[in-house]
Amino acid sequence: MDVLNYRRGMGGMYGMYPMYGMNMKHFNHYIIGGATCYVFNPPLIPVALIGSVAPDYIEYILNAPIFQQVRKNNRLGGVIKHRTTTHILMYWLVLVLFAWLVWDFRAILFWFGVGGLTHVITDGLSPSGIPLTPFSMNRSSFLGGRVLLGTPVEYAIAIIYLIVCVFVAQSFSSQLGFVPFFYNWADEYNKGLIDGYEWKINRFKLI
Ligand SMILES: [Zn+2]
Repeated sequence: MDVLNYRRGMGGMYGMYPMYGMNMKHFNHYIIGGATCYVFNPPLIPVALIGSVAPDYIEYILNAPIFQQVRKNNRLGGVIKHRTTTHILMYWLVLVLFAWLVWDFRAILFWFGVGGLTHVITDGLSPSGIPLTPFSMNRSSFLGGRVLLGTPVEYAIAIIYLIVCVFVAQSFSSQLGFVPFFYNWADEYNKGLIDGYEWKINRFKLI
C-alpha cells in the first residue's frame, strides 16, 4: 500500500475523524467493551473503551508509511492486513492473563486487555474471522461466522449484550445496596465519606 492508498484507506475506515473514530463499526465495539466493564468495574469504563477499539487503531498506526518502510527494510513484510497481526486472540488473552496474574497498575492494563479481547471476539463473529494464534494466520469464525459487521444483526447483538450487562450489574448492586453507575459518588460511598442516603440523592448529578 502506498501513501496515497494509505490515506484513502484511512478515510474509508475512519471517516472525518481519523483518531476519534466513531464510525458505526466501532460503535458496537464500544458498547460491548464498555458494557463488560460496567458490570465489574465502572470507573475503568474509559480504559475499556480505548481497549475496545485498540486492535484497529494499533493496526492503523503500524501501517503508517514510516513503519511499513521499517518492516520492508528488515524484510518483515509490508502492509499489515486487516484483522491479522493485531487481532490475534491469543495475544489479547495473554495480555489479560498477564495483567490479572502477574502485574498490573490499578487494573488499567487488565481492562484495556479485556476491551481488546471483546473487540477480537466480536470481529471473530464475522465471516472473515480472526487468527487464534500467531502460529497460523488462518482465520477462524465463531458461531458459524454469520454476523456481518455493521448490519442490524450486529447492532441487535450489541444492544442485547448491553441490556444483559446492565441487568447483571443492577442485580449485583442491589445485593450491595447501591447502583455503581455514577462512580464518583459510589466511590465516595465506598470510602465511607457519604452515607447511602446521600449517595441516593446525588447519584444522578454528574458533577
Ligand atoms: Zn477489528
